[in-house]
Amino acid sequence: MDLFDNQIKEFNKLLLNSKKIVIIPHKDPDGDAIGSSMAWCEALRQRDFEARIISSTIIPQNLRWMSCYRYATVYEYRKSKAAEILKNADLFLFMDFNSLSRTGELLKFFKYSKTPRILIDHHPNPEKRLANVVFSDEIASSTCELCYDILIKMGFDITVDMAEALYSGIITDTGKLTYGSLRPQLYSIISSLTEIGANKDKVFQNIYQQISFDSIRLLGHSLCNKLEIIEGLPVAYISLSKEELDKYNYRPGNTEDFVNFPLTIKDITVAALFTERQKDYVKISFRSHGDIPINEFAQRYFNGGGHINASGGETNGTLEQAVEMFRQKITVFLKSINK
Ligand code: 5GP
Ligand code: MN
Repeated sequence: MDLFDNQIKEFNKLLLNSKKIVIIPHKDPDGDAIGSSMAWCEALRQRDFEARIISSTIIPQNLRWMSCYRYATVYEYRKSKAAEILKNADLFLFMDFNSLSRTGELLKFFKYSKTPRILIDHHPNPEKRLANVVFSDEIASSTCELCYDILIKMGFDITVDMAEALYSGIITDTGKLTYGSLRPQLYSIISSLTEIGANKDKVFQNIYQQISFDSIRLLGHSLCNKLEIIEGLPVAYISLSKEELDKYNYRPGNTEDFVNFPLTIKDITVAALFTERQKDYVKISFRSHGDIPINEFAQRYFNGGGHINASGGETNGTLEQAVEMFRQKITVFLKSINK
């Protein structure tokens, strides 16, 4: 039996009894969460479902060009409208996360809800009972790659807008096809997306070449003044205080790519970016090379998770405490895996 045949059968059954379908990306959504959500929103609307997207937190500016953005509501800004939509849903589609806690403040709507749920995701070890139907493939580069296969198998037409949304998730989750993108079939999918008419150059421009003057200056400041290497270890990190973020008019998504820069330094195999989003709340991005499971580190010490080479976490406390904790724990962690 083909991969996902059972899930597709179940998905189709649930669609028979659904009219209002709500698609949920993870909080602080990235290109993969939004790209996959937008593609499904359009696919379902083609078949006359009332599909909508509810994002727990703001959708980054560089992802708002996607055609189904008009069907998206951000919970943190429009709580009552979002709550109404969630309450009336016949079916939820969860995109790009493996733990219900990744829905942030929306968690309370799902905890005791009986509305059926479908999960499409590529993170390891999805939580048990997260959804009634689970499409999970850890090997996939992105949720968008997975969505392409599922959409095709379910007989949906992939429009140009959908193809561009899916391509967005593929490039953002692979650092523009530089990691997590070894599987040859990914390039067959990209080939199909371009054949459909996806303009990959336009997508690249929309996502990566809309950076504000302030953000570029913040990157310059980060690299010039805030980049540290831990002596004797292959570890580099950047930490940015709330004050620094404010000075450069930080908006969510503005520092998305910053963590990849320390990783380009010769012999550096672990990189971290600390951003103090609010007083006593620090968000952290982690990246690693090769077989260093930085997701395990994120999970163990920073309430986080993700992929082996790209993960994230968060901590309550000061920026200094977060950095100090990282410096100590990464030393122990690397030693424990003989790195
Ligand atoms: P980023 O560093 O780009 O925000 O996230 C990289 C990866 O880590 C993504 O796959 C994302 O889903 C995951 N991730 C980021 N933050 C968290 C978090 O707080 N908790 C968990 N479980 N995963 C996270
Ligand atoms: Mn993803």
